[in-house]
Amino acid sequence: MTTYVYDFEHGDKDQKDLLGGKGANLAEMTKLGLPVPPGFTITTEACRAYLEQGQAPAELGVQVTKELRLLEQKMGRRLGNADDPLLVSVRSGAKFSMPGMMETVLNIGLNDDSVEGLGRIGGDERFAWDSYRRLIQMFGATVMHIESSRFADALDAKKDEHGAKTDPELSVDALRELVDEYKQIVRDETGRDFPQWPREQLDMAIIAVFKSWNTERARLYRRRERIPHDLGTAVNVCTMVFGNMGDTSGTGVAFTRDPSTGHSGHYGDYLINAQGEDVVAGIRNTMSLADMGTHHPEPFKQLEQNLHLLETHYRDLCDVEFTVERGKLWMLQTRVGKRTANAAFRIAGQLVDEQLITMNEALERVTGEQLVQLMFPQLDPDGDRTLLTRGMAASPGAAVGTIVFDSAAAVAKAEAGEKVLLVRRETNPDDLSGMIASVGILTARGGKTSHAAVVARGMGRTCVCGAEELQIDANAKTMVVGDRTFGEGDWLSIDGATGEVFEGELEVVPSPVMRYLEEGIERGVEGLDDETTELVKAVDRLLTHADKVRRLDVRTNADTADDSRRARQLGAQGIGLCRTEHMFLGDRRVLIERMILATSDEDKQSALDALLPLQRQDFVEMLEAMDGLPMTVRLLDPPLHEFLPDLTELSVKVAVAEAKGEPDARDVELLTAVRKQHESNPMLGLRGVRLGLTVKGLFALQVRALAEAAAIRKQAGGDPRPEVMVPLVGSINELDLIRDEAERIIAEVAEQQGVELQMPIGTMIELPRAALTAERIAESADFFSFGTNDLTQTTWGFSRDDVEAAFFTNYMDKGVFTVSPFETIDRTGVGRLVQLGAEGGRAGNPGIHLGVCGEHGGDPASIHFFDSVGLDYVSCSPFRVPVARLEAGRATVGDSDATA
Ligand code: ADP
Ligand code: MG
Ligand code: MG
Repeated sequence: MTTYVYDFEHGDKDQKDLLGGKGANLAEMTKLGLPVPPGFTITTEACRAYLEQGQAPAELGVQVTKELRLLEQKMGRRLGNADDPLLVSVRSGAKFSMPGMMETVLNIGLNDDSVEGLGRIGGDERFAWDSYRRLIQMFGATVMHIESSRFADALDAKKDEHGAKTDPELSVDALRELVDEYKQIVRDETGRDFPQWPREQLDMAIIAVFKSWNTERARLYRRRERIPHDLGTAVNVCTMVFGNMGDTSGTGVAFTRDPSTGHSGHYGDYLINAQGEDVVAGIRNTMSLADMGTHHPEPFKQLEQNLHLLETHYRDLCDVEFTVERGKLWMLQTRVGKRTANAAFRIAGQLVDEQLITMNEALERVTGEQLVQLMFPQLDPDGDRTLLTRGMAASPGAAVGTIVFDSAAAVAKAEAGEKVLLVRRETNPDDLSGMIASVGILTARGGKTSHAAVVARGMGRTCVCGAEELQIDANAKTMVVGDRTFGEGDWLSIDGATGEVFEGELEVVPSPVMRYLEEGIERGVEGLDDETTELVKAVDRLLTHADKVRRLDVRTNADTADDSRRARQLGAQGIGLCRTEHMFLGDRRVLIERMILATSDEDKQSALDALLPLQRQDFVEMLEAMDGLPMTVRLLDPPLHEFLPDLTELSVKVAVAEAKGEPDARDVELLTAVRKQHESNPMLGLRGVRLGLTVKGLFALQVRALAEAAAIRKQAGGDPRPEVMVPLVGSINELDLIRDEAERIIAEVAEQQGVELQMPIGTMIELPRAALTAERIAESADFFSFGTNDLTQTTWGFSRDDVEAAFFTNYMDKGVFTVSPFETIDRTGVGRLVQLGAEGGRAGNPGIHLGVCGEHGGDPASIHFFDSVGLDYVSCSPFRVPVARLEAGRATVGDSDATA
């Protein structure tokens, strides 16, 4: 028989999966001997069973009865007994703390009889009746789903009637009347009486907690936080204690150390003669914890000891909820406390100094995402601000600029020295130049995996996406929100960490952590105040430790010398992916057009010859920036049509010219070529190695440019380490053909230039066939680089640009996946292929070098996976390099699943 109910004396903090966070920690505190009001936890498994079957498992009722009897025995009171009632609270508690679920119902067990009993034992009738009316109100709203304003209105009317300004001024008689009115509301709204039988109250509340797992708000929260939909929540049933039994009672919250600075010492708020929620609700002014010491010295002393014990036991900052009932302290909740990114690093450092944790443990206490937050510039928190609307927090940081509605305007204005904010309904690859020119990106449509979001994160640009209240008309150049209209040139400020969009030009403060990352610890702490110095030093200490313990190297994806230098400053140990397609755009596009249009071999060769020196110069600069470190250059990957004009636009242009009777011969010729290159599914068409084997001379040009660049660097006394990477290989035969040609060219250049050239040749593994035949392919490859973006596309059969906008949100709603497989690697599917590819690679070539390029290389959860399958390096965008360093370190000290 499955056990669905555990009392607090069974279980511990490590059982969050089964008991939920709150339940597991209540059990832990009980085990430590802290004064927790007795109770029991109904497991998440019971909740899952309920949600699956639409009814509670048969054993649950019996088990609850048994636990309840034991509880009653322990307390010497019966639930809802008329003379001396036991009352309980019913509290939800999932594995991860989660707003949006059912609120706690206090005072379960009160009814028309037990309210009198409670009044007698408490010696306070008013308190009893107030508790009863609170129960009906809370129960009515959260369990019976009655509009809470019904109760609030009745309460207000009652206060007016009796001339009472505040709740506490209501007399016992007024409260009795109010309870009658509340009961009438329940009858009117639900067609039944407020349940008088205590056990029915309990059962209804338990079921309501189960059901609240699936409320709209809860689902939304889980989607944003990437919490799986199938965990379910636990339910805690806990003996009531009363902080509102007069002046020797009270309730409060406390932290074992300051959650915003990490400084040791106890912090918190306390309210005398109050119950739970009153503290957070902010209706009355709370006193500090120190003042609690003067009013209630005994329970305060105990609380301090308990806080100390908890921190030593959890070896981390904890927060607690507690209540004092007539001088006796009760602990109602604890957990490892939430903290800002800033505090996380500082607390980790402090705990090491206090010898509570080791450096390895400290590394587990911070995350790459927290580091990212510290790297972005921030909106000045002290400035005035007017919120316009909100979208998704897609890429953190603060961006302040004037509105532009298209890339051309963005580029033009940025060149003129303006700070611009690109505002679009959504973005597509054509917007890239505009995104680069802008300080931030704001879109009305698309989620966290939309083009705008992904590209912005990659570049380290601030981005808010999916701000659906915005109506953007790029042609009219207007952005409408509510009744306000904004035009080009108007100032906006966006906060990519919160998704907020503000009107006007807010102040931005730069990030000290970024300065440290770029300039090193000595320059990095110059002129900083003590607090910030502590933060920067903590980041340095943890990052240095991560570098020491990590097994994975961290390289960068970079296509320019600037990016290479920047990435190197941020700690990159080479280039894992240099895309060459960007080198064929801009002014050089005409040369590619010439090559594509060429009718004879000579024409084609002359176009390629013209590209050679340009490409060579790009490589020289990058090799110089990466001197002494490996630089993997990917041969041209995208289909050629990407270098040609758009089919529709060109068709229209030609048609219009023809209609006017002035056709342009070159356009007509181009159009023929564009039609010829047109593919119905370019992602699976003529690209990558297929292009190299089809377009004569193309890959040869690139290999020659790279080899000559390396020779130039050698002659200049440098230490170039270029590597040639062939994209989209599915068969060893494809690789062999390219390899033979490449080796010939490299030997030729070495001979001509009189230098020795070592240029490893390897391939991307981005097709399932490549992963499956990795052992063969490895015979001809010096290295593999897993191209996990394309591997995800080809494994799932997803075309990323199509699927993300079309149905990913729906898939996440339905729980097909909790996180986009383009953001975090799909371990069981795509990851399995990576693993197969890695094993095959090593079997076919024991000396093979294994890496990952593609966005997953900068994603924490994915990095942990790549570490676990034994790859040699990950490669990510420059801005993500520090994150990858930290996470690669964390991967070696924690378990491979831990990313949070
Ligand atoms: P949350 O997760 O929102 O904190 P809780 O279950 O902790 O919800 O409870 C809400 C409030 O009610 C808290 O202030 C808590 O301290 C108080 N509370 C919960 N259970 C009891 C109880 N058995 N006795 C007294 N107060 C309680
Ligand atoms: Mg709580
Ligand atoms: Mg690819």
